[in-house]
Amino acid sequence: MSERFHLATPPRDGTASLEGDEARHLVRVLRAKVGDSVTLFDGRGQAWEASVASIGRERVSLALGPPRPAAAPPAVPVTIAVALPKGDRQKWMVEKLTELGVSVLVPLVTSRGVAEATDSARSRLERGVIEACKQCGRDTLMAIGAAETIGTLLAGLPAGTRAVIADPGGVPLEAALPTGHDATTAVVVLVGPEGGFTPEEVATAEAAGCVRVSLGHHILRIETAAIAAAARLV
Ligand code: SAM
Repeated sequence: MSERFHLATPPRDGTASLEGDEARHLVRVLRAKVGDSVTLFDGRGQAWEASVASIGRERVSLALGPPRPAAAPPAVPVTIAVALPKGDRQKWMVEKLTELGVSVLVPLVTSRGVAEATDSARSRLERGVIEACKQCGRDTLMAIGAAETIGTLLAGLPAGTRAVIADPGGVPLEAALPTGHDATTAVVVLVGPEGGFTPEEVATAEAAGCVRVSLGHHILRIETAAIAAAARLV
């Protein structure tokens, strides 16, 4: 597989251009030359083989080959709504959730949460998604949703979405979402902060129809819980 680059702007008339981080990666890190082959993906499921046509100071132009067949969407769209951990653990979590095929990550606003989804945090998350897609071959970006409380998130879910709240005292995840459930049904998993959800937050989730689900016998860090749920559902 050739090196992969994310196209921020759609191609036109068989040509595309890379700017910013992507252009710098191609030119300064990989030392690309005119004629080199790369793979471009638009983050919405489409990818192309392409060759470098010209290299400018801040911009690289590329000539596109034929598009590759669009990747199939995941059978079950999974949203992980999670109280963000801090620093490198946040970065690691985004990388793994992207690799696993999670459709949407929602930063969950909770009483005991410690990391806010500021504009700069969102930019870092979005950059982390692109980096993971480049590395793992995923052509559709994991979306980073707006920050939500449990109440607003669950009130806005489309009808038929199955939502569960990760809680060490819950029933096994597989019991709440048995194998063979309608494969097109979207699933949302709520994962709490290091201090856990408050009783009020758990009550809000249960009142909105969430089942409390366990992910194992031990108490998991935030990112471990998010990844464990994703690995079983996607
Ligand atoms: N002392 C906190 C508690 O008792 O909830 C621990 C919080 S844990 C570090 C962070 C989050 O991960 C929890 O709020 C929960 O959503 C999830 N989690 C951790 N271990 C879990 C498990 N074994 N089963 C289900 N969810 C778990």
